[in-house]
Amino acid sequence: MSRLLVLGNAGIDLVCPVPHLPGAGETLVADGQSRAPGGKGLNQAVVAARAGAAVLFAAPVGRDAAAAEVSAALRAEPLASVSLLPQDAATDLSLLMVAPDGENCILTLGAAADALSPAAALLALEPLQQGDMLLLQGNLSAPATLAAVQAARGRGASVMLNTAPMRWDMRPLLPLCAVVVANDGEAAAITELHDGAAAAALHAMGAGCAVVTLGAGGCAMAGPGGLRRHPAQPARAVDTAGAGDTFCGVLAAWLLRGHAMDDAVAAAQRAAAVTVSRPGAFASLPTAAELKAILA
Ligand code: ATP
Repeated sequence: MSRLLVLGNAGIDLVCPVPHLPGAGETLVADGQSRAPGGKGLNQAVVAARAGAAVLFAAPVGRDAAAAEVSAALRAEPLASVSLLPQDAATDLSLLMVAPDGENCILTLGAAADALSPAAALLALEPLQQGDMLLLQGNLSAPATLAAVQAARGRGASVMLNTAPMRWDMRPLLPLCAVVVANDGEAAAITELHDGAAAAALHAMGAGCAVVTLGAGGCAMAGPGGLRRHPAQPARAVDTAGAGDTFCGVLAAWLLRGHAMDDAVAAAQRAAAVTVSRPGAFASLPTAAELKAILA
């Protein structure tokens, strides 16, 4: 069975309800705090594993208590393997301030993700074999990401890239990727276009198949079969955090199972609709039982 190797970030989300989002110079008193595992790499790996894929997850972390917390949380997930790669930096942390209307403000520290060297990224890819898939996001450095993509291709694996967060020029990677998933803002940053036009441009720039996600508007997809729109699964949205990660995790899992792109996108949107219907990021990801029912 082909496997999915997710190489990305993992850390802790510290979520603090606040009476309003802070202004310049303001000190805010939070109404509490909750901690959860987080990071786009971690979320996408967990969703793909819960969706039934054989997932190998590799992520840089610090040598600290937060890394142990991440490790403990991942033991409860159906991942085939977890490689937390110790770096001389603190484990990544995101502070999410959430106002009563659901609006949020996020501060992210990504020193561990930034610290992963290209050589360490290559070591993490050693299990990859012909027919496997590598899934990456934008949290690692550009050199580490490029090294990983090239090595995966050299091993006969396909590559799926989620362009979030967009911190550096991703255009050189596009021709090396079988699938690229960007939200509309990220797609516009690369192509200066939106929606279907952006998807078509990403495909023309080399992505095997480009998907531009459009929130409640669903997504646009451009590939060898032309340009297609897929409406979102209707949902009562409470908090969209984690929607993109759910989409990517299910899309990768479904493609690995040999489903056609259109079917995989439809499954990804059904799963993402669950995530947006409840608060939190990690806490809102669909469970394995929910995914089994959704994807049946
Ligand atoms: P986030 O950063 O909030 O996780 P994103 O910006 O990466 O998300 P979006 O385009 O907002 O990505 O959403 C990804 C997918 O999630 C959409 O293509 C859609 O299928 C689903 N989705 C998002 N918002 C909604 C919504 N309000 N109702 C139904 N589905 C939604």
